[in-house]
This record gives sequence, C-alpha cells and structure tokens, in this order.
Amino acid sequence: MTTTLDRPAPIKPNAIPKVGLVSLGCPKALVDSERIVTRLRAEGYQISPDYAGADLVLVNTCGFLDSARDESLDAIGEAIEANGKVIVTGCLGAEPDVIEKAHPKVLAVTGPHQYEQVMEAVHTHLTPPHNPHEDLVPESGLRLTPRHYAYLKISEGCNNRCSFCIIPKLRGDLASRPIHHVLTEAEQLVRAGVKELLVISQDTSAYGLDVKYAPQTWKGDAYETRFLDLARGLSSLGVWTRLHYVYPYPHVDKVIPLMAEGSITPYLDIPFQHASANVLKAMKRPAKQDRVLERIQQWRRDVPDLAIRSTFIVGFPGETEEDFEILLDFIREAKIDRAGCFKYENVAHADSRDLPGHLPEDVKEERWHRFMAAQAEVSAARAAAQVGTVQDVIIDGPDEQAGTYLARSKADAPEIDGVVYLTSETPVKAGDIVSAEIVNADAYDLFGRVL
Ligand code: SF4
Repeated sequence: MTTTLDRPAPIKPNAIPKVGLVSLGCPKALVDSERIVTRLRAEGYQISPDYAGADLVLVNTCGFLDSARDESLDAIGEAIEANGKVIVTGCLGAEPDVIEKAHPKVLAVTGPHQYEQVMEAVHTHLTPPHNPHEDLVPESGLRLTPRHYAYLKISEGCNNRCSFCIIPKLRGDLASRPIHHVLTEAEQLVRAGVKELLVISQDTSAYGLDVKYAPQTWKGDAYETRFLDLARGLSSLGVWTRLHYVYPYPHVDKVIPLMAEGSITPYLDIPFQHASANVLKAMKRPAKQDRVLERIQQWRRDVPDLAIRSTFIVGFPGETEEDFEILLDFIREAKIDRAGCFKYENVAHADSRDLPGHLPEDVKEERWHRFMAAQAEVSAARAAAQVGTVQDVIIDGPDEQAGTYLARSKADAPEIDGVVYLTSETPVKAGDIVSAEIVNADAYDLFGRVL
C-alpha cells in the first residue's frame, strides 16, 4: 500500500535528482535495497552518500523484533530531521499506521519487496530525470556489498508458520525465483568480480516447492527449480558458495557430496532455534529434529572441515530448565561452530505472544549468558584446532589500525562470523583468495600469515 502525504519536491532544471538510502535489517532487506538502487540508477537518479546531498531519502526498514522496529522508527526520525523528505519501505512498511503515527511527515510508505510501489512513490515526490540510459547500470545490477561478495536471493516469503515469526505475514508465502534467472544472475555477478556468493531466502531448502520444482534450461542443461539443482548450477561457477537459512530437511544430505568434492563451500547456516522437542513444537518449527544429531555427525564424517552456523532463541514461553539443558547438550554434541542467540521477545502480531508460560526477563538473561558461555567453548575448541593448518582465506581488505589484513576462512560468512587477521609480506587486495598458515586463535577469530 502506498500512502501519499505531500507534493513532489521541485527540482532545478537539468539537475540530476539524488536519492539517499538508509538500509536496515537482514541480508534479505539488503538485497531489496540493491534492487531499488539498481532501479533508481537505471532511471537516471543519482545515489547520494549523505542526507545533505539528497533530494529525498529512502529508508528500508526491518520489522522483525521490537528492537529492530524501534531502530527503524529512529532511523526514519533521523532522516526526517536531517533531510525532511522521506519515503519508507521494507518490513515495517507493512504497518503504515505505526510509521505514520510516529512520523506523520513521511511522504509515502510501501511494504517489503514492493519495488514498483517504491519507484512510484519516488516518481511522485522527485520527478524522474529525462532519457535514462539503461547502460548506467552494470549487467550484474548495483550492489551495496563489497565487490568481492554478493547475496543471491532465491525466493521471497515462507510457507512455514513458526509461532514467534511474523515474516510470512509481512512477506507472504514462498515465491521461488525461476532457477535459470537465479543462475544467470549468479553468473553475471561472478563475471563482475564476485568471488563469494551467499545464497539467501527465508527457507533455502524449500526452494521450488511452490512452483512444483518447475523444469528449466540453463546454458543448454536441464535443471529443476530445487535446492540440489541450484547447488549443482552454482557449483559450476568456480567461486565460494555459502548456503544460508537451510532447514535440515532430508534432501539437504544430498548437497553434502558437493561440499566433499569442494564445489560448494563447506558451510551450512541452519537456524535450529532450539533442540528440545517440546519447545520446537511450541515454536511450530518446520523440520523434524529426529536424527538431526546423527545426521550432523555423518555430515562431519563426510566433510571434516564443515562449519555449521545456527541461530537459537532462549527463554521461549514454556521453556523449562530441562528444555534449556537439552539445548546446551545439543550445541556441545553437534559442535555448532557459530551461533547467534536471541532472548525471546514478544514480537508484535506473533502467535507466540498468546502461549502460556512466559518467562521473566532475569531467567532469559541468565540462560542467554549460559548459552553464550557454552557456545564460546565450542567455538574456541574449533579455533584452537585450526592452529597450524594451512587454508584458503578470502581477503576483505586492510585492517588499517593493526597494519594487517582482514580475511575470512571458508568457515566464516561476512558480517556474522569470525575473521582471520592476516600478515603478508606482499600486498594483497580485497577479493584475493590466498593460502595462509594459521598461527594463533582466540575464541572466535584466527591469526595467520600469507604463505
Ligand atoms: S521458517 Fe519460520 S522463522 Fe523462518 S521465515 Fe518461515 S516462519 Fe519465519
């Protein structure tokens, strides 16, 4: 829904209209921002790096947790104060009344991935320049990530109905992109210099379910719109490929051989959220946890350097001390290498608000600290085991302060995992993949030297 609240900004004849962008939220929201920026540049708008130089500011919001909603509302307020002309989009945009109540001066509000509506609102408030040239935009689109890695969004929405989550309400049911479009985009990104692809969605392993795994052709070969074929296609591109938001459905096992042969990065981001059957039931999680531990152990036998990242919620309504102990045992036994942990929050409109057994904040806090301590031990043990190994790392750039380089191993996704602090006798640059000896480690990060 688009709400128009003001008149178009007058712009000087021949001046190129400039749009500022504030992008909040998860990688999926970042991909939305990239699409919007690509559309804006394709139409001849310029992107302003600051409020002062912008004729109008777009704020792409996050509405998942209450803290993210507050951050989004603050960002809108800051943009209004600094610039005055603000259009809001993204997840919180699904609730225009909340935004308009807090900030009646916003020009327009559009919801998540409503690219057309965002552009319409921009056109309404900032006249598009004449004669836009499509060739202003590189074939791979415009990206907000560094040149050497890119997020690849394979679908929107989600068919699950986890009780703590409002994403399906905000973004709707699963809508998979055709596999040949995804693979073509990935190939263009690689051609533009990307060395690492990060596959994202709400539920990566459900890819293609909504289109009944529609068959397509890409570069003369037959592919079905499904998780395994996607991994197969991406593995042909010769770059690091990380799979995020993978649920442990049985067919995930089939991608393990691609990791064993080295064509998919040995990294799985699986949002387990919990390990106790009682809590998972209350959470209405999609995948059965039966045999998960057994399967993880088999994956590790097949791919010894596999890194597993996950997210968990502690203090979910009804979580007993026993449930929590089950969770701690799970992260220790499964050796979850990297984990994000959230204290349960009552998200507006989430079904879990109505569950019985809400826990006091001090219990959530105490469990969160115990979780983090247990996870730090697992992470430190993994990091210590890396000392003395030689492995490929990708350079993210110089660490000016320390006079070293920041890099990541195959076990580290950008932004969320650890880093490798690297010394090198010869200059290296962002995107280089170099061989490094790991010489030291702390709980989360590694220290090494380029060979
Ligand atoms: S799988 Fe569950 S938590 Fe993830 S987006 Fe879907 S409903 Fe939300």
